[in-house]
Amino acid sequence: MKLVSYDAGRLGVVRDQSVVDVTDLVTDDPTAWPPVAMVQLVNEFERLRPAIEERLTAASGTPLADVRLEAPITWPNKLVAFPANYQLHIDEMNSKNRANHNGFFLMANSSIGGPNDPIVMPAMTGISIHHECELGVVIGKQGRDIPVEDALDHVFGYFCLMDITLRGPQERVARKSFDSFTPTGPWIVTKDEISDPANLDMSLSVNGELRQQANTRDLLLTINEMIAMTSAITTLYPGDLIATGTPEGVGPIAVGDEVSISIAEVGSMQVPVTAARRGSGFDLQQWAERKG
Ligand code: MN
Repeated sequence: MKLVSYDAGRLGVVRDQSVVDVTDLVTDDPTAWPPVAMVQLVNEFERLRPAIEERLTAASGTPLADVRLEAPITWPNKLVAFPANYQLHIDEMNSKNRANHNGFFLMANSSIGGPNDPIVMPAMTGISIHHECELGVVIGKQGRDIPVEDALDHVFGYFCLMDITLRGPQERVARKSFDSFTPTGPWIVTKDEISDPANLDMSLSVNGELRQQANTRDLLLTINEMIAMTSAITTLYPGDLIATGTPEGVGPIAVGDEVSISIAEVGSMQVPVTAARRGSGFDLQQWAERKG
């Protein structure tokens, strides 16, 4: 199944080229704050599956082209990310890091965007902001100290994720946590529709020019190893998201660009890069200059 968030918090399932509304199976108020309806759907999915399947056979849908898809999950308990998880990316960055040595970090959940949300550049001069093409994983079952051999049982599904990154000396969390810097979507594909998550072709293009092309077989830490490592430290909850790391080919994006990502059996999406946002305060560079 392909699960979507759309039209201001509604929940749907993609059937052919249409969206079947299942919002009411989860919530009476899709606009309620905080926006956790999809997390609830993930948590309750096995209980709800018969009702969803009945809805898919009986109900009419809305053409995909007539809805506005949103980030599938915007309010996870946490957004986990693995750096340095493909050797050729480690090589291109001249990095001393390796995911199996360094583990994971967290990014601000509020950096999450959807398939129709632009990447909004910060108003900083002389900086380089890069695209990273990543397979996203949604956790489906709570767990702590999950053994490697059981870890895929804790996966709910997969999605496309761009990890937009300011290159520079600042803390990694700050460089990756700008609003809009984690485009996700276009939906969550449940794991039963993915033949082998350790063998998925993926690619990222900017303005139609291929920049990144890789396969998840080259992950240093596999998906089950990432889940085992993360859960040795922190409880994983349904709806938690994991950015599995970027392969080689990262490079700069600029205002006006169109960035597209495609992952086999998962989907594809294209997002624009829009004009810099000028904050009212000092930016990261100005703080450095101001305080010396
Ligand atoms: Mn990344």
